[in-house]
Amino acid sequence: MSQNWLPFASYNLWLQFSPQIGKEHLHCDMKRGFTKARSREPAVAAILASDSTPQQIGLVAQKGVYEFHQNPHLLYQEDGVEQIAEILELQKESDLVQQRAIQILKNYQQNPILAEKRIIKLSRGDESYPDPILIKQGNQSWKFYAAIDCIFAEEDDTLHILDFKTGHSDFDLRQAYIYLLAASYLYPEQKAVASFYNLESSKWSKPISATSNTLKAFQIELTLIAQRHQEHLRRYRENSADFSQIFPPNPGVSCRYCLFNSICDFSILEVST
Ligand code: SF4
Repeated sequence: MSQNWLPFASYNLWLQFSPQIGKEHLHCDMKRGFTKARSREPAVAAILASDSTPQQIGLVAQKGVYEFHQNPHLLYQEDGVEQIAEILELQKESDLVQQRAIQILKNYQQNPILAEKRIIKLSRGDESYPDPILIKQGNQSWKFYAAIDCIFAEEDDTLHILDFKTGHSDFDLRQAYIYLLAASYLYPEQKAVASFYNLESSKWSKPISATSNTLKAFQIELTLIAQRHQEHLRRYRENSADFSQIFPPNPGVSCRYCLFNSICDFSILEVST
């Protein structure tokens, strides 16, 4: 089988099967259907192309940290935040994104958590998706995608994988294990831990590590998700009229926050024309 047709899995896909604790009321399988099976339809593609405000804030926050470390003198300069804002062309963003981004930059300048670290990788946030890791589980092969924000080395050479957060979302332990599983393939000789840092609240989680048995269990779970998703895509390709059976809707409070509520036949919201 060509690699292009192999099943795939990622944290993002897992979230679309099984939401984070506390977000169960927002879960709807049909969102996965729009995102993964119908993404080429013009109306769906247009929705997917317009980043939501939380996504925009996450992206400028990541770019801000990246630019500070490209220009580290700005971490200590009085007008450093303004200069980074110019580099990021923040004036082109909405007022809300600008306000939150400026606060994030100020927070980071006050507490530049990577300033003394040996940074191995720091992403700008808008790079294309990384190459997948090819996973073999039993007689199954699948592509594993894990986009890592930052890796630095601890003093004892342990790799520390850091994920930046914005907003109020809680840290999801599963995401840490996803990163650690990726690290076990990308850096098999090195010990690794993972943590989350919220650039708005300046809250840093404790470092999370995993035994090889935990990582094996996660790999098995991801293999099942990759297979189920592949099967759903196959069924949709064979009979697109079955969309709502393959990706059942969950109309309710979830519709209010759903990107697709303007095009979904099951939305409980009335769409103004
Ligand atoms: S509008 Fe509601 S039912 Fe439709 S995909 Fe979104 S959450 Fe699901």
